[in-house]
Amino acid sequence: MGLLVNHFNPATVQELMCRSLVSVGWDGRLHDCDFNLMLEIPLGAATATGARTIWEIDSFDRLEAQRIATGRHCFGCTAGAGSSCSGALA
Ligand code: SF4
Repeated sequence: MGLLVNHFNPATVQELMCRSLVSVGWDGRLHDCDFNLMLEIPLGAATATGARTIWEIDSFDRLEAQRIATGRHCFGCTAGAGSSCSGALA
């Protein structure tokens, strides 16, 4: 964990997949990314929009500019050159 924190690279933040994608669970629940899906962390926007499943939204526009659920595991996406679906720096 210290290794990831010590290698935090702010340049990775703009490219994080959670800023432009969502993950949908088998049961329709929405998550900010596949890591959050596996950790069963619900969509951060749910606190503002109330939308927790794919059936509760008509458009993903509704989720734009809403809070993303983050945690210690996010350091795995922001260390070094970044990681994950479209999140790695070129
Ligand atoms: S783990 Fe955190 S930083 Fe990485 S994509 Fe998910 S919410 Fe974003």
